[in-house]
Amino acid sequence: MRETLRQLVVLQRVDDELAGVKLEAEGLPARCEAAEGERTASQAALEGVGEALKARELEQRGLESELADAEERIRHLESQTAQVKSNEAYHALLAEIDAGKQSKDDLEERILEAMEVVSEQRNALTAAEANARATNSRVDEELARIESRETELAKDRDRLSAARDEAANMLDPDARSRYERVVERRRPGIAIISKEVCSGCRVGIPPQDFVELISATSLLQCRTCKRVLVHRDMLGNGD
Ligand SMILES: [Zn+2]
Repeated sequence: MRETLRQLVVLQRVDDELAGVKLEAEGLPARCEAAEGERTASQAALEGVGEALKARELEQRGLESELADAEERIRHLESQTAQVKSNEAYHALLAEIDAGKQSKDDLEERILEAMEVVSEQRNALTAAEANARATNSRVDEELARIESRETELAKDRDRLSAARDEAANMLDPDARSRYERVVERRRPGIAIISKEVCSGCRVGIPPQDFVELISATSLLQCRTCKRVLVHRDMLGNGD
């Protein structure tokens, strides 16, 4: 019986490893998705900054064309001063020229402000481009890591599956089928215990079961969670 218990513990360790490998393999697609998500986000940020820059440049060009119109208008008004007949008309023309110059000054002020914003946006674009490049290479590296991990895990899975078959085939058929029934519902299927408590479900083990467990005369299962019970002392000794 001791040998059977030890074989069961070996099987459970292989099952544990196998479960770990499967869990990690199942998590790989989510890791790929997260990496691709990072790439998409940095690309979207870059496009956002690019759009904002374009809008600001358009605004600046609009103001510059307004300024050209204003200057043209001032030149036109100034060219009329020589032909004005009355004093009153002359003063009206000068007032109009002044107003034109005022609006030209305003436009020049706004163009300076717009140029500053455009320059800030260009810096932001450079930063976003650098960030997108760094993100791209980081994501490529992560995807390559995931791919090679996938290969490793597939190899581990094959190796562990073979080890599992070997360990399971060595087992006494009754012990094996009892263990398999437990692991269909819960893992680990074995509770290694040192006190009169099941380490799997924390429920107490009846004294008569515990006595049997220490002597290792039969295969015992927890009455509550059905895990196969193995006393810690069974694991180290060679008899
Ligand atoms: Zn239990």
